[in-house]
Parts: sequence; structure tokens; C-alpha cells
Amino acid sequence: YGDRIRISVKPRNFIFIDLKYGEYQKRFIDAWKEGKLKTGEITINENKIIIPFKKEVNLQNPNDWIAIDINESNVTGVSSNPHVLKIEHELRTIHTTYFSIRRSIQKLAKHKPKTAQRLLKKYSSREKAKAKDLCHKISREIVEFTKQHGFGILMENLKGIRERINYGRKMNRRLHSWNFRRLQSYIEYKAKLEGLPVEHVDPKGASSLCPICGGRLASNGHRLLKCPKCGYGSDRDIVACLNMLRMRGAPFPLKALNEPLTIEVKGKG
Ligand SMILES: [Zn+2]
Repeated sequence: YGDRIRISVKPRNFIFIDLKYGEYQKRFIDAWKEGKLKTGEITINENKIIIPFKKEVNLQNPNDWIAIDINESNVTGVSSNPHVLKIEHELRTIHTTYFSIRRSIQKLAKHKPKTAQRLLKKYSSREKAKAKDLCHKISREIVEFTKQHGFGILMENLKGIRERINYGRKMNRRLHSWNFRRLQSYIEYKAKLEGLPVEHVDPKGASSLCPICGGRLASNGHRLLKCPKCGYGSDRDIVACLNMLRMRGAPFPLKALNEPLTIEVKGKG
């Protein structure tokens, strides 16, 4: 009832209480007025009224999707809602650190081969454990965010991952593809536990074509891309995510056209 709440005391006997609320609460009340939320059981004490709001989410057929792009230094998610989630991670730092440790151990190998072998083994399992732990943390954060919003998850298939790791030494490539696959499978596993749908799309052209008009994108500085045809520009990871949403036929955040999407969460893995 507008900004008041009606409480039945006896049949056909009501009291009205004026509600005072801030901007944050207003968002829920507005959504409820539009029928997007339902209320749970209301609790009243001397100075507070607690109104829980419930949102019904259809997990099998979500309205909104979040596309997830995994790359060397961050994991980016863009949802059709629209939100942008960016998680900066230090997977690369872990590997470069252990790479130099390995190199100094190899120098030792000439004089003390047995000790060197033992150390190599020790550090490589430590490296793997650290990377694994970080992958767990990152995937947990992503699935938590996705669950909160009731999104379905879109990720690129393995073919695309292979296509995009085309840099550096063999060693780097192997480690990175190991991390990509691990992160993907952790996200997928945790999402399924929560009952969230996961789909894969073929990311062909995902980071080279304009998500708005389909034109070929040109480089516009470090990790930035711009479309010469329609003028749309964004960072490489966001472009990849938008293209995945488009390929899935998921609702497209049209906001992307007019204003840059703001980044929602930023955390160090
Ligand atoms: Zn364009």
C-alpha cells in the first residue's frame, strides 16, 4: 500500500504502519511492486519490521546468462543482465615464481643430481597445489556471484581455448592450458552442484569480431579493441564475453552499446 504496510489484527480490522526505508530497500520494494519479487514471512518488533523478499529463479531455463572468459591474468564474466565481473588472479605469478626456482635447481643438478631431483619433485607438487587452490577460490567466487543472480553459465569449448593460447614457450602453453581446463571444470562442477545450467559455445571469432555489428575489430591499445565500422570499443575480455552471449542467442546487454559496462567485483584470487 504505497509506503505503508497493512496488518490484519482481526478479520476486517487493519492497522497501517508507515515504512521508512533507504535507497537500498527501495530497490526491493520497487521490484516487488512490479511483481518481480515475493515477500516471505514478515516479522515485527518494537522498532523494526523485517520483510524478507524472495526471488523465484527457474534454473532449467534461466532468463539471463553470464558468459565467462578465462585468460592469463583474469577471469571476466559479462551477464545479459548486465553486470561485469572481473576477477584478477595470480596464476601466472605462481608459475613464473616456480619457473625460476626450477631453473636454479637445475643448476644444482650437475653436482648433486639426487638432491636436485628431490627438490624438483617437492616444488612441482607445491606449485600444482597452489595453482589448484587458487582455481578453487576463483571458481567459488564466480559460482557464488552467478547463483546470487540466478544466471546460466556460458563458457567457450576447449577448441577455443586451444585457439587462444598461442603465445610463449611450450612450457607456458602447457601450464596455461592446464589452468584453463582446471578452472573451467571447477566452475562447471560447482555450478552443477548448485543446479545452475552450464553451456559451451564455439568461440570462433569471439575476440576478433564486433559483438554489435559483426565487423572485424581493430586493436586500440593494450588489450583494447575497437570496431572501425560502428565505433564500439571495449576490452578484449568483455568483447569475448559479449560475443559468447550473442552466439548463444542470450539477451544481449544493449547498454553495452551506449555506455561502458561497469565492473562489479574485483578480487585478487
Ligand atoms: Zn561494430
